[in-house]
Amino acid sequence: MKLIDSHAHMDNDAFDCDREEVFQRIEEKMDFIVNIGYDLESSKKSVEYANKYDFVYATVGFHPDEISGYSQESLEILEDLAQDPKVVAIGEIGLDYHWMTHPKEVQQDIFRKQLNFARKIGKPVVIHSREAMEDTINILNEFPDIKGIFHCYPGSVESAKGLVDRFYLGIGGVLTFKNAKKLIEVVKEIPLEKLVLETDCPYMTPAPFRGKRNEPLYVEYVARKIAEIKNIDFETVAEITNKNTRIVYGISEEIK
Ligand SMILES: [Zn+2]
Repeated sequence: MKLIDSHAHMDNDAFDCDREEVFQRIEEKMDFIVNIGYDLESSKKSVEYANKYDFVYATVGFHPDEISGYSQESLEILEDLAQDPKVVAIGEIGLDYHWMTHPKEVQQDIFRKQLNFARKIGKPVVIHSREAMEDTINILNEFPDIKGIFHCYPGSVESAKGLVDRFYLGIGGVLTFKNAKKLIEVVKEIPLEKLVLETDCPYMTPAPFRGKRNEPLYVEYVARKIAEIKNIDFETVAEITNKNTRIVYGISEEIK
């Protein structure tokens, strides 16, 4: 069965030398990918790819490390972009206290504004949260009607259990790393019906390619690892996670 990458950054410079070839491989070997916006430029690019290729969907939004470009004007442009039927979510948005490129209060304010934006246009969200689990959950609790994906899930099993009634957990290459103990526990404990596959390419390359550039096709190694941890077959992982990704992004089986 062909897989889905729920979180890719094909607009990244790392693909400048061979982007068309990578897209060709995706077309041949995958169901589809979702290209994730992280600022105005990448959001525009994501929509451009989605309009060019039937196997690409897009999200638009400002990543917490990239909010220097955020303004009322840029939000209005995002609102226009978000009208495109191939824009399936708002993201990636959230909090990043690791890099802390902006003060916590500023990040929280823009996170809330983008959650309001998602609510207004009625689309799910893709959450980025790094070293900010508690504040992320508290803010999400202010928006009980908002659903989506908790990308590159960084938290505990306990936090995961509190999130999965509204959020799918994005599982990527980290799962294949030697120090993935916490995430392995999460994958063991949380039902497959609540997980989606992602690469976050060109970052987070899974073993055995760790250290090289990541690309959507490598999502297969994440699926294989989930199958191994849960002691189920690869086809089941593919089938259920594909279904989950379609549900959360509202992409029906009939349309690609
Ligand atoms: Zn990302």
